[in-house]
Amino acid sequence: MPEVSPLKVSRIGARGFLMSFPELDGTNTYVVEGERFRFFLDTYLGPDPMREVEKCMRHTHGEKTPVVFNSHADWDHIWGNPVFRHTIILAHESCRERVIEEGPSDLERHRTYVRGDVTLVPPNVVFSTRLDFPDERLHFFHTPGHTQDSSSCFDEADNVLFAGDNVESPLPCVSWPDLDAYIASLQSYLALRPDVVIPGHGDVADLGLVRKNLEYLMALSGDRDPGLEDPGSLARHGSNLQALGRA
Ligand SMILES: [Zn+2]
Repeated sequence: MPEVSPLKVSRIGARGFLMSFPELDGTNTYVVEGERFRFFLDTYLGPDPMREVEKCMRHTHGEKTPVVFNSHADWDHIWGNPVFRHTIILAHESCRERVIEEGPSDLERHRTYVRGDVTLVPPNVVFSTRLDFPDERLHFFHTPGHTQDSSSCFDEADNVLFAGDNVESPLPCVSWPDLDAYIASLQSYLALRPDVVIPGHGDVADLGLVRKNLEYLMALSGDRDPGLEDPGSLARHGSNLQALGRA
């Protein structure tokens, strides 16, 4: 697989391709090369980089019907949707609502990050709990946490979990106050026992990072001191307390 600048491509398992972009601490799009469909998980900051990802897969693996998934409605994960406006774009039902309701102001506020000609294209197929592609051994399911509309994808064939922004190094980013729901979602990740965990930002991880994130959220939920020392963790903790109205 060639490396197409500034996109970094890493092979994961037998059929996964992690496409990492340098912006926002490294932002990830994950491609699963299914039997019938090519799945694009999250669409980054715009049509230009997503066209590059799409072309890269077409060159190395030929034509296949794309299916797109948005892990949540935050702007850094959905702006490449216009490339796929004529195909299926999956997400949790509240993700579609958020793209419609919050998308325009997000686009206005973060316009300097736009990559290409961005128009808002909301998900066009939605689920409330889960949606499965049994023949492809690929499963999408609601995992509220980082945001209420967050969902995840489990690739049963490769034993890989795409967790979106629910998992992050060194600490998770809380932007929705239901910590119990967040904790339950991370516990559901542990139960799946994936070998590889792909966060929305940063390097490939495993359940070790999920456990660390979970410990932190449990401390936060129980109002205990999470015992943080490094500046990055302290800064994130500060912004989490602010999001919870506790700062
Ligand atoms: Zn993000």
